[in-house]
Amino acid sequence: MARQDRHTRFTVGLTGGIGSGKSAVSALFAALGVTVIDADQVARALVTPGSPALRSIVGHFGMPILRQDGELDRARLRQLIFADPDARAWLEHLLHPLIRERIEALIAAATSDYVLLVVPLLLESGAYDFVNRVLVVDVPEALQVARVAARDRIDPAAAKKIMATQMPRQERLARADDVIDNSGLESDLNAEVKRLHEFYRQQSTRQHQTGQLPHLPEDRALE
Ligand code: ADP
Repeated sequence: MARQDRHTRFTVGLTGGIGSGKSAVSALFAALGVTVIDADQVARALVTPGSPALRSIVGHFGMPILRQDGELDRARLRQLIFADPDARAWLEHLLHPLIRERIEALIAAATSDYVLLVVPLLLESGAYDFVNRVLVVDVPEALQVARVAARDRIDPAAAKKIMATQMPRQERLARADDVIDNSGLESDLNAEVKRLHEFYRQQSTRQHQTGQLPHLPEDRALE
């Protein structure tokens, strides 16, 4: 099915490695009035106490997967699925369709010219091939390590370990339609975000008028 048949709202998928600056960039788009949908937030909201998904998780992993306050113990769950590929597959099978469904509902309800869908593993997951543009926030790896280590108070080796589970920088860049270089000052991001915002508004208007997606290069990985 063609992407525009499923999604009438022009959707920009924002991704980038951990610590590249996705949160910083998405806050600037939000400040311009763009509806920002964050897949991580959607995932967290699905497993709040009392939710059907959390009940299923407790049914599968047992009560120790809950913290004392009844919230999901994410750190414990992360450890479990890291050590057990079957457990990871089970969890993904449960959550991914729910996340996807919720995201589609949020896109359908959006009223801004276009929406920004923030997904850390947008390209790795393959579930978001409906996005109209892929926007990658990019920083050199050494800077990425330094920013993650500072933000999360972990040592550089731990930051590198997380990065090793994500798509390599060059591969991600090769699949981008647009790239924001975040190696400079955070205050430099604003001008680039404004330029892209105008571009996406134009593109979304074009899609709206013609019912067609703007031309995308043939070699885009949109399978
Ligand atoms: P992500 O959401 O991609 O994981 P963040 O937006 O949280 O990344 O950025 C990672 C860290 O780097 C945060 O502490 C953020 O404040 C900081 N940061 C982001 N952009 C810059 C920048 N241009 N200069 C310095 N620090 C930055």
